[in-house]
Amino acid sequence: MFAEVISSIAAMGQKQQPFRFRPSNAGPEKCLRSLVYESLGFPHKALPGRAMLIFDDSSWHEELTLNWLRKSLYKIHSEQMGVECFTFADGYALTGSIDCIATDIDGNDRLIEHKAINHFTFTQIEAGDLIPLDNITQTILYHCGLIALSKELKHPILLIKNKNTSRYLEFELVYCIQVDTAVCIPRTLETNEDGIVKAIEAPAFKVENILGRVKERYNLLKSATENKTIPDRQYSLDSWRCDYCSYNGVCYDNYDEEFLARKEGFDFETNPELSIMIKAYKNLTSEISEREKPKEQIKKNIKEFLAKEQIKSGYCGNLSITLDRREVVEKLHKGYISEVLNIKEMKVK
Ligand code: SF4
Repeated sequence: MFAEVISSIAAMGQKQQPFRFRPSNAGPEKCLRSLVYESLGFPHKALPGRAMLIFDDSSWHEELTLNWLRKSLYKIHSEQMGVECFTFADGYALTGSIDCIATDIDGNDRLIEHKAINHFTFTQIEAGDLIPLDNITQTILYHCGLIALSKELKHPILLIKNKNTSRYLEFELVYCIQVDTAVCIPRTLETNEDGIVKAIEAPAFKVENILGRVKERYNLLKSATENKTIPDRQYSLDSWRCDYCSYNGVCYDNYDEEFLARKEGFDFETNPELSIMIKAYKNLTSEISEREKPKEQIKKNIKEFLAKEQIKSGYCGNLSITLDRREVVEKLHKGYISEVLNIKEMKVK
């Protein structure tokens, strides 16, 4: 009941703000099509309460992080200060609000841009499988605005917090405006056997053409808005970006007709690159399913034995065996109970 109240209140009072191209939506990952819908004034579908709670949580996480930093020797200031990042050729000034500036005891200033994200995305970024391009772009844009005011500013920091584990990951962004490239140095913390915490640097990587891409996107957005042309979809229906997009209704409005109108009987061998990919995909899925077959048979045999002997849990050497009951939540089988076999290595204390 309370959960419902919270979610409903969070969903209430969402207002469609006038559209503005901002540092937070200037990165390459933000769907250009959704920006054009917004800029053309298409009606904004209200986001679910849970999405609003996620956004709200992120601002509170930023506050929590800054509270910790305020207890350190850094002086945290200029929070939410407005900054003009740069002006496009047509005179439009790209402006935004920074998270804060941290000043160290020697008086060195450094911009901090804070992001609080979910565990799954955090681990992908930490492993180097995902580069947070939009966050890097936003940080560099603010940095460009600030450096115009103070040449002494140190390299900015993109500070990312894992909302589930409170683990931090930071990127020091060494940006060179002449070549429009940032060298990104990722750092996390590691605790050694003696309980001493130290920063670990992961290999640095480059992000090129940051401002160039922002200008390109601005021009595409401007011409699509003036000509009232909707760009192609940047993401597919199964993407989380479309799930959380306020324009997914209008974007997929004609999806059924579009799907019915798609070509049939296409000869993929006319596209050699794709043909190779299709064959590789088929081989991989066949290999995996061949390898899965004995596993499924063994699992079946174990479960049959557990059922026959009425066993719910046990052990085999250092392996623990448990049978859990789970309610199936997929639409077709909703309400059914399935038995899930878990075999894990037991931890030795
Ligand atoms: S639904 Fe997906 S593709 Fe369509 S505008 Fe939104 S993010 Fe872009």
